[in-house]
Amino acid sequence: MNQITQHTIQVGELATGQALTIPVFTVGEQGDGPHVYIQANMHGAEVQGNAVIYALLEKLKSVPLAGSITLVPYANPIGCNQKSGEFTLGRFDPITGENWNRLYHDHSHLIAEFVTHFKDEPEETIRREFKKRLIEQTQALIGGPQHRLKTGKRIALHLQHLAHQADFVLDLHTGPVSSKHLYCPEYAQESAKHFDIPHTLLIPNEFDGAMDEACFCPWWQLSDAFAAQGRELSTLVEAFTVELGSQEHIDLKEAEHDANSILSYLTHKEVVLGGGYQPRSITRYACYLKDYVAVYAPMGGMVDYHASLGSHVKAGDSLATMLRLDKYSEGEALQPVPFAQDGIAILHFASASVNQGTELYKLFTNYFEL
Ligand SMILES: [Zn+2]
Repeated sequence: MNQITQHTIQVGELATGQALTIPVFTVGEQGDGPHVYIQANMHGAEVQGNAVIYALLEKLKSVPLAGSITLVPYANPIGCNQKSGEFTLGRFDPITGENWNRLYHDHSHLIAEFVTHFKDEPEETIRREFKKRLIEQTQALIGGPQHRLKTGKRIALHLQHLAHQADFVLDLHTGPVSSKHLYCPEYAQESAKHFDIPHTLLIPNEFDGAMDEACFCPWWQLSDAFAAQGRELSTLVEAFTVELGSQEHIDLKEAEHDANSILSYLTHKEVVLGGGYQPRSITRYACYLKDYVAVYAPMGGMVDYHASLGSHVKAGDSLATMLRLDKYSEGEALQPVPFAQDGIAILHFASASVNQGTELYKLFTNYFEL
């Protein structure tokens, strides 16, 4: 039996003085073997990751571990509680309009000096010392002048401080209405085969403020910097954004499958020992981020989304039909939305009424089997 400990961290204060806190669970002794960090619900409506963390905690009680795992549900207490009518908004800070998942800190400035000092050191020293710098730099930002930190940045830094302690990082999200898909750095595509997720997006070494990038970019850049010095160093940390399906939806049974999928990946990484967690034999498709295409509503209207998620569409197929009753007398009440390429429909907008230019669908194009 593994011991599970729970504590809370404070990530801010509300106007009336109450603390904004986040629960943090830890399984296993940190310091022994590899460390894993898993968080959920940074975007308020994307709640399935909390159910997956529950399923993981239940399973991890009795799974032999070679390392330790930190699990953080409800990662964004403002976003989680940001309701409007029946719906959770929670994707953007309501005050600044910024995406909550674009506020993590870029530590790439650490690399040049680090490589100069550690270019001949063994891999274990590099792993330990670079990790230490990422953690210390993040802590310094959290502990610096409070008037320098906006709300979302403070939350992000607290989470990033936990995440930099890990060798493997999973940020659990969902799409709006979506099939399961995985954001995977290009160097880690072998690992994508160990998740039971049929669609993988391969992303480049470019920091755009998201949690996965904040965790893998510094290590990828470090490998590149060592390579420029003529030394081969594998990228020592992996980080993924796991898109678990649709927002505003909890499915406890599906969460068990999702937890098994994560345990299969952690078995591959030799964090989980035994338990028989293996990837399912499914066909996995991948595409590069540059080939992940958005289709915007060509006109305003009401939408019947009929390209089902995960389905393969042929060039010229219609993805959706727009209803425009104002054009009924002209015989143009129904307007198809064709797609010009072959693709796989991954997600679509959550509402049936859209303004012109709303992102209707996102599709893999130029996809290939992983
Ligand atoms: Zn999200």
